[in-house]
Amino acid sequence: MKKILQDLSFAELESLILSLGEKKFRAKQLYDGLMRGKKISAINIPASLKGRLTEEYEDEPLKIIKTLTSSDGTEKYLFALADGNVIEGVLMKYKYGNTQCVSTQVGCRMGCKFCASTLGGLIRNLTSGEILCQVLAVNALHSDGGKRGVTNVVLMGSGEPLDNYANTVSFIKNLSAEGGINISPRNVSLSTCGIVPAIYRLAEEGLPVNLTVSLHQTTDDGRARTMPVAKKYTIDEILKACAFYFEKTGRRYIFEYSLIDGENCFDKNAEELICLLKGKPCHVNLIRLNEVKERNLKALSDKRAYAFLGLLEKGGLSATLRRQIGSDIGGACGQLRANYLEK
Ligand code: SAH
Repeated sequence: MKKILQDLSFAELESLILSLGEKKFRAKQLYDGLMRGKKISAINIPASLKGRLTEEYEDEPLKIIKTLTSSDGTEKYLFALADGNVIEGVLMKYKYGNTQCVSTQVGCRMGCKFCASTLGGLIRNLTSGEILCQVLAVNALHSDGGKRGVTNVVLMGSGEPLDNYANTVSFIKNLSAEGGINISPRNVSLSTCGIVPAIYRLAEEGLPVNLTVSLHQTTDDGRARTMPVAKKYTIDEILKACAFYFEKTGRRYIFEYSLIDGENCFDKNAEELICLLKGKPCHVNLIRLNEVKERNLKALSDKRAYAFLGLLEKGGLSATLRRQIGSDIGGACGQLRANYLEK
């Protein structure tokens, strides 16, 4: 596979251009084009430079090969990478902005029982440029003619971001570069299944990203039943790492809790959650389970989901039940890619 130009920061791109004996302003032209989602060959630079660059670098590291649009405006994309792998992403439109969900790996090796992304294991890490290209491609679709492009990013597509640490961090840095697409880390949410040492490391990066931890259970044993990572790190260790994250960044953290019927949403679970989290600077995001056909797990009814939410609120937790969007287009975790691979 060729190298990827979008892996580079502007300063690195500038050094590359100078090392090729080109004038400095070519770096700016190139960077502006890349940040507008263009492929190298479509950017307004001399043909000779394009030729030299595309010999070593992918002209188009990622392209959208399928778009589905939901009746609620949510868009779902299938992206092809240069090596033929496919990943998927979603754009959710809210009043306050457009939130894109991006993938950080092709597949995943975390093995969570409810998740479709992990069914075929980990294929490979994405480079920071491949993660960035997802945003650049979707932003280019939407920001034409002065319309609003991507304003927020959530790392909640396929993959475990903290299992691809260096690329994820470098993506977040390049995403927020001022002359680039300029999305602040404050508008980025990083979701992890709870790789404790990496949470400590992230806390020291000086990047104010929103930390989201997939909890999904109230005891270590229960968690280990659905999330193999729980055999390595306990809930107590996760809570300590989150407290450290808050201390370092001043940012409230979020726990994701997908409601699985008969597994994790008994009244007792609500009581345990309250016990674990009360008084902490955190928010609980309840998620309706997206039923994955390979897994025999059932979603909770809406009525019971709201009742569970009510218990958490009554117990003094800040909590919400995530609105379900894009369900008519298979907006859930890994479905589009799984269908594509099946075919
Ligand atoms: N690896 C990261 C990102 C995963 S996707 C993590 O574990 O956090 C974002 C969220 O969706 C996670 O909380 C994940 O546990 C949850 N999720 C995965 N599959 C799901 C499903 N089928 N239904 C509901 N939530 C799911």
